[in-house]
Amino acid sequence: MSGTQSTTGSNEAWGQRYAAAVMNTFGAPQRVLVRGEGAHVTDADGTEYTDLLAGIAVNILGHAHPAVVAAVTEQISTLGHVSNFFATPAQISLAEELDALVFPGTPAGSSKVFLANSGTEANEAAFKIARRHGGADRPRILALENAFHGRTMGALALTHKAAYREPFAPLPGGVEFLPAGDVGALRAAMGPDVAAVVLEPIQGEAGVKPLPAGYVEAAREATSAAGALLIIDEVQTGMGRTGAWMAHHLLAPGVIPDVVTLAKGLGGGMPIGAAVATGEAAALLGPGQHGTTFGGNPVACAAALAVISTVREEDLLQRTADLGERWAAALAAVPGVTEVRGAGLLRGVALADGLPPAARIAAELMERGFIVNAPRPDTLRLAPPLILSDADADAFTATLTDVLTEALQTRADAPTTQEGAA
Ligand SMILES: *Cc1c(COP(=O)(O)O)cnc(C)c1O
Repeated sequence: MSGTQSTTGSNEAWGQRYAAAVMNTFGAPQRVLVRGEGAHVTDADGTEYTDLLAGIAVNILGHAHPAVVAAVTEQISTLGHVSNFFATPAQISLAEELDALVFPGTPAGSSKVFLANSGTEANEAAFKIARRHGGADRPRILALENAFHGRTMGALALTHKAAYREPFAPLPGGVEFLPAGDVGALRAAMGPDVAAVVLEPIQGEAGVKPLPAGYVEAAREATSAAGALLIIDEVQTGMGRTGAWMAHHLLAPGVIPDVVTLAKGLGGGMPIGAAVATGEAAALLGPGQHGTTFGGNPVACAAALAVISTVREEDLLQRTADLGERWAAALAAVPGVTEVRGAGLLRGVALADGLPPAARIAAELMERGFIVNAPRPDTLRLAPPLILSDADADAFTATLTDVLTEALQTRADAPTTQEGAA
């Protein structure tokens, strides 16, 4: 049956076909998933899981949400794609919504959107906006240590991890990395030759690490004083994930960035990204200076519009803030957990020294029916759908308690000498 999309077959059989057919950029998949509903997914062996990762902060309404299904179905059966020689009501309506969501309180028409297809592409657009700002007089762009902004060459140049960057050198130049959260280092690096500062309000791939209080405000002050742009990457943190539409609304209220990038949660599972700019930054890319065939695709835009209206109708921002706070407090009390970072339903659960690596804990949690991931060796990441039930959150807390209690017990029982540790 090779070449068909039959869903029969085991995790193992599909895994072999994957290895034979798919380029090995991600390692072996942990499971092959065949179905999802709400916060639950089912694998090819018929095992069900509570999905606390949501496709890495993507499925904010969970799987197969009726509003997204209806919007996508209606749009694809009406008009599926037109190219950017034309426009569609879905694209225009989404751009209007995003201008207002990202930059509330700014005058209508002062903000503008570039629609792309992913987070890395949203950041490519932001990178080009930065290059257009000041041109040759502003060759420098400041990014932060441990930042993650994507895998295409421009976004990769802004990404800190050497293992991601070095195999692809030379990358676009002019990017410098500053210690995240160090206001003094930021002020010292700032000057009239800086085009932009780029930051994530909560560094997601770094282990869900919020920037310290006051840092984003300081970055706004320093960039404004030097005439540089402030670009905030909300690809992971945006669209309600933290309990506010944008994490910077919550963590740095009053700061108005020049450019905000979005993707992950925006389409509720459909691939879409956006760079949203305000003021002068909204006019830096002119006709012919950037483009994408699929960007603004009406099906993806219809999905994003359904996400926005559903978050509003179901009051999911408040729900996310409330559940996130209660759940984080419960998780922080689990033996073996040293800290719970983040906001809303984007959480990093830090594990005590001496416990097995977080990836091993995540694998054990999967055996017990929960999908999470390990962005760092000492941190589990939770980024569930915003529709997660109290019961599912509590069930995870109980299972994590079991898993960590057993691991702490094993550690306590383990021989402490080298000889015994064979
Ligand atoms: C995931 C992520 C990206 C890249 O998004 P892709 O859709 O994978 O290209 C960029 N920035 C941040 C903060 C992210 O979390």
